[in-house]
Amino acid sequence: MKTGKHLFMAISALALSLAAAGCAKAQSSAPATPATLTLTRLDCGTIMVNDLNLFSDTDAFLGAQRQLVDSCYLIRHGDTYMLWDTGLPASLIGAVREQGEPMVPAMTISISDQLARLGVRPDQISIIAISHRHFDHIGQIGDFPNARLLIGAGDWNDIRSEGLANEENAPFAHWLTGGGNVDPVAGDRDIFGDGSVVMLNMPGHTSGHHSLLVRLAAMGPVLLTGDLAHFQENYDQNGVPIFNADRADTLASFDRFKALARNLRATVIIQHEAGDVGKLPAFPAAAQ
Ligand SMILES: [Zn+2]
Repeated sequence: MKTGKHLFMAISALALSLAAAGCAKAQSSAPATPATLTLTRLDCGTIMVNDLNLFSDTDAFLGAQRQLVDSCYLIRHGDTYMLWDTGLPASLIGAVREQGEPMVPAMTISISDQLARLGVRPDQISIIAISHRHFDHIGQIGDFPNARLLIGAGDWNDIRSEGLANEENAPFAHWLTGGGNVDPVAGDRDIFGDGSVVMLNMPGHTSGHHSLLVRLAAMGPVLLTGDLAHFQENYDQNGVPIFNADRADTLASFDRFKALARNLRATVIIQHEAGDVGKLPAFPAAAQ
């Protein structure tokens, strides 16, 4: 049975929630026009994986090979353009492929050339958000020096402590030497403050890894995995690559991501999965 004090607190809480509901109702009677939101898939290369077992710390893919795609995304929010991930380095275009390596990356077109086909100049990209620090997601950030760089705080701390002594950090040179605007993201980040584009804290692949939620008006919610999983089988089986930063964090992120996908009835796009390319309109069309 409730004491008088508890009852008072319960009534106070009820009054507060009613007031909040009234407030929300008043706001919803004159809603601001939501900003136009579009999502365009960009071709950011391919990666031939000659030793797929690298993507399993339980030997699930012994002797297997697989062709992965590398994708980036242009998001237009009202008058603001942002990129999610920047793919492989454009220096790979036309380069000779070293066939014997465990992973062989290749590229045919840069992000800037694809933006040109859409009538978007590189200096119109004001935000670059990246899922994580790996080479196949940061290759072309240097082409957008004026953009604010959103990156998981865990990844940024690692990059800063290593500095340019680690060659893999070279694409970050502009931001590491104080020339660029870095905005480290701890936890989730509602990028435009209206819930339409949200970086989701999904650590494990790297310490600051993020996935991205994009709530499109017509298509509905879309979840971009980052590298939570690289292909369908690992997504289905909660598979953990041998090179992930933390196994337990990876499994916890799978748990959160899949619950979100279920609850939102979201379209899940595994960014490296060739089978998921068709889930978005073919370039230059955009999902709305
Ligand atoms: Zn990665």
